[in-house]
Amino acid sequence: MAIAKGYHLIITLPNRIENAATHVFCGRHSIVGAECPNCNKPLLRFFSFDMRDKRIPVQSRSQYIHLLYCWTCELSQMPFSYQVMEDSMVTLLAFNSGKSYQDFPYPSYPLNFPERHVGLIEISDMDQQVIIDLNDDVVDEWVIQKERPDLCMPRHQLGGTPYLVNAPQIPVCAICKNKMNFFSTVSDKTDWDRGFVENNYVQVVYYYCDVCNSLTALNLAD
Ligand SMILES: [Zn+2]
Ligand SMILES: [Zn+2]
Repeated sequence: MAIAKGYHLIITLPNRIENAATHVFCGRHSIVGAECPNCNKPLLRFFSFDMRDKRIPVQSRSQYIHLLYCWTCELSQMPFSYQVMEDSMVTLLAFNSGKSYQDFPYPSYPLNFPERHVGLIEISDMDQQVIIDLNDDVVDEWVIQKERPDLCMPRHQLGGTPYLVNAPQIPVCAICKNKMNFFSTVSDKTDWDRGFVENNYVQVVYYYCDVCNSLTALNLAD
C-alpha cells in the first residue's frame, strides 16, 4: 500500500520537536551489508524511518527502512536496489559497477553528514494539489514561485506525491518484478555547511515493494 498522505521532513537537532519518533537523518551507521561496492566504504545513510510510526501505513518486516546511497561513484548511473533484511542489515540487489570519484561531488567529501532528528509535517490537500499540478505542467511555475517557492523545488518528503524535477519511469521490484510504490524523496539539503551535491535541483527518489521489503533509488536531475 502506498502512503496516501505526504509529509515534508524537517531536519532538526534532538529535542526541538515533540514526538520526533526515532526517525534518523544521516550520521554514522552500522547497517550490515550497507557498503558501497565501488568505494569500499559505508553507503551514505540519508534516512532511517522507524516503521512503528503509524503515519507510515506501509507493511514492513523490519522496524527500520533505511534510505541508502552513494554520491562518490558511478553506483547511481542505473537504478540502485536493495532489500532491507532486518533492522540493521541490507542486501544489495542491483547497482552500477564503476569507478569511485576523487573530487566529486566536491573535494574532501565527508563519510557522513551530521546526524539529526526528523519531524514529519503533513502536507495539506491544497499544497499537495499544487505539487501535482506543477508536475503535470498544468499551472504556471513562475506564478507559484512568487507565492510558494518552497513548493517549486525538491524537498525531503515521505509519501504523498513529491515535486519531481523530471518524470521518472516507475521501477519494478528487483525481486518480484511488481511495480513499486513511491516511498520517499531526498533533496540536496543537509544540516552541514554544504549540501549533498550542492545542486538544489538534484533529487534521489525511493520506491518501495512491501512484499519484498525492497527499495529502488533513482537519481533525478534537472
Ligand atoms: Zn560509492
Ligand atoms: Zn517485490
